[in-house]
Amino acid sequence: MRPRIVIVGAGFGGLAAAEGLARANAEITLIDRQNHHLFQPLLYQVATAGLSPADIAWPVRHLLRRQRNLRVLMAEVTAVKPGRKVVTLADGPLAYDWLVLATGATHGYFGRDEWAEHAPGLKTLDDATGIRRRLLLAFERAEMASNPATSARLLTIVIVGGGPTGVELAGAVAELARKALARDFREIDPRQTRVLLIEAGPRLLPNFPEELSRYTASALQRLDVEVRLGQAVTRCDARGVQMGSEFIEAGTIVWAAGVHASPAAEWLGIEADRAGRVLVAPDLSVPGHDNIYVIGDTALARNPNRAQLPGIAPVAKQQGTYVARAILARIAGRAPLPPFVYRDRGLLATIGRKAAVISYKRLRLSGWLAWWLWGAAHIYFLVSLRNRLIVVTQWLWSYVVFERGARLITGSDAGARR
Ligand SMILES: Cc1cc2nc3c(=O)[nH]c(=O)nc-3n(C[C@H](O)[C@H](O)[C@H](O)COP(=O)(O)OP(=O)(O)OC[C@H]3O[C@@H](n4cnc5c(N)ncnc54)[C@H](O)[C@@H]3O)c2cc1C
Repeated sequence: MRPRIVIVGAGFGGLAAAEGLARANAEITLIDRQNHHLFQPLLYQVATAGLSPADIAWPVRHLLRRQRNLRVLMAEVTAVKPGRKVVTLADGPLAYDWLVLATGATHGYFGRDEWAEHAPGLKTLDDATGIRRRLLLAFERAEMASNPATSARLLTIVIVGGGPTGVELAGAVAELARKALARDFREIDPRQTRVLLIEAGPRLLPNFPEELSRYTASALQRLDVEVRLGQAVTRCDARGVQMGSEFIEAGTIVWAAGVHASPAAEWLGIEADRAGRVLVAPDLSVPGHDNIYVIGDTALARNPNRAQLPGIAPVAKQQGTYVARAILARIAGRAPLPPFVYRDRGLLATIGRKAAVISYKRLRLSGWLAWWLWGAAHIYFLVSLRNRLIVVTQWLWSYVVFERGARLITGSDAGARR
């Protein structure tokens, strides 16, 4: 019988593992609870009406249609039973010989999950269209507000967390208000929108070199974003956010402050760090279960120099490719691979029009050149030609006329403030 390989998660890690096993003489099942692979780095553009959901997502089934040794199941894994070598789906158990868990991460509220209702995070397409709805509805309601105080509250947007997602959102929200929406209302002036970016640590983009953090803060200030550093949010509710003794009334709050890994460690009954990540062995297998690998945002992996690997797409992709090779070697009875080593692909973040930062080895880049390179890299890494063309066209159009092509308010407005 051919070995059965089950991969859970069709994100960056799971997809790379599936592609790496294209020639395996095995029965591969790729399971995801969504039917699409999502390019999360551009989610903030869906949340701020720059791109549409279909511009950054692709049906997994279509992506892998040519891979004859693989089937795709749209299903949610709810448990793993390593003793019986099965994963549990709603429809029943599915047996494996080799298991790859690449189920990613979600937002973390540091134990204050009740904040999620008021301060949604950004991880899925539904999250992005939900945030877009809240943002755009706030402007609509402000236009109809009967008093200036209500209007000012609705036009206050707070983003919590100064990592790349928070920075990108803050810049994009400021540009949405000050450019794309500027002339479309009669009673309110969207350019007066107050955008705050709150970070508990001493600087923005803590994973980047300090000089790029400083550049980022000043580029955001040029967009009239209020950057608050060293201030921790102590409460989020329907009216706004509390930071120490200060309460800021807000029409929209977005949470970009913490992540929590998928529950793979709970499924396996093994040790995890505070963010729920599985402490994997140097070959990315799970200690005590050498036929199970955990990769991407669900794993806490280290390079041989002990440096902890960041939760970014290139890490997940390289790990997916590595575990595919590791499984192939073990199925063929060859010597095990040497430990996984991450090859640094640099860190990139954009702040807004003509402003981005890049850190790659000793190279530090900021400003318009970094912005063009950031754009080129993101186009390059989009999966399909169709999406590349669409995104390039949308960006060029927005660049020339400052419009946002996806300003649609759809779905229920639960959670949006009045
Ligand atoms: C808003 C945002 C912006 C980002 N920007 C960047 C960036 O600019 N550059 C960068 O390098 N990285 C960025 N990242 C991080 C990057 O997206 C992640 O590191 C990467 O997606 C991790 O890959 P993964 O395969 O581990 O998980 P994911 O890509 O998250 O994939 C996990 C998959 O597992 C599926 N899944 C989860 N649980 C289950 C289950 N129980 N059953 C079945 N399926 C399940 C999910 O549906 C998903 O498809 C960003 C992340 C976010 C959220």
